Amino acid sequence: MTQDSLIRLASELKNFLAAQDEDEFIATAAATPAAVSVASARGEQPAEDVCRPPAPMPEGETLTVEFPRAQARQQVAAASKPAFTQEPAVKGAFLGRQEPTLMNTAQKTAALAALADTIKNCSRCPLGSTRINAVPGEGNVDAELMFIGEGPGFDEDRQGRPFVGRAGQLLDKMIAAMGLTREQVFIANIAKCHPMTDPLHPEKHGNDRAPNAGEIACCRKYLEQQIAVICPKYIVALGGVSAKALISDAKSLGALRGRFYNLSLDSIKLPRPVKILATFHPAALLRNPSWKKDAWIDLQMVMAELGLKGASK
Ligand code: URA
Repeated sequence: MTQDSLIRLASELKNFLAAQDEDEFIATAAATPAAVSVASARGEQPAEDVCRPPAPMPEGETLTVEFPRAQARQQVAAASKPAFTQEPAVKGAFLGRQEPTLMNTAQKTAALAALADTIKNCSRCPLGSTRINAVPGEGNVDAELMFIGEGPGFDEDRQGRPFVGRAGQLLDKMIAAMGLTREQVFIANIAKCHPMTDPLHPEKHGNDRAPNAGEIACCRKYLEQQIAVICPKYIVALGGVSAKALISDAKSLGALRGRFYNLSLDSIKLPRPVKILATFHPAALLRNPSWKKDAWIDLQMVMAELGLKGASK
């Protein structure tokens, strides 16, 4: 059998299984507010929900499914059936059940390192099998300001670091324009692994897509734990996917911009209030340079709150 006919066969099998799963998918998407809001606010059909929210896990137990990349890719091609683990295997003082406390720098560093290890070993959704590197996030654990994008792209997947491609270079300039450096802030993403339109060919350029609702749900606890540990004063949500996931609102990015929201997490009580503001994703600014003026107005609102020089009064 030729490679082409194998690929065609795999694709037919994938479509067949997707059709079998359709009823379950519709039920899952309907039960997941973000799934409906993100897609419908964009005027799109909800994305294929390949990751179902995990079932509750007995206290103290973790379950990890690991398999090599090549084998995993075959699995994606052959069945498109996700391999799931249960709850993130992160334990620590910042989990929701305890009264939240602000951590010191050493505690934050240790908690974020443990979380990054968990993320790097995560296979809770199929992105864990097709990524080259997970991208947990990086920066100053004591940052007052955190930037949150949507998910790693081609360059980030290769380097295991957030915002290192062209959009990242623009983000660096935006941070510098605020009078800050990358080392002073913390940068993370909603999804920790590279969402690809064609996961069979991770070597291809232009293979990026936004994370779907299921993938966002799978990564949510990781991000919430990062936010709770760092506990920045302000978060800038970069782009509509990030803004809608964090502000949990069906409005468009245009409608969400221009004001601060009090952040409220699903699984963790924050030790102190965190405010969030939405602005354009740097990749959108690269495509639409005329929007930079508005993005700068947004960033100046944050600068004014943080008492940074150059903020318009
Ligand atoms: N776009 C994102 O949303 N995040 C990255 O890390 C890179 C590009």
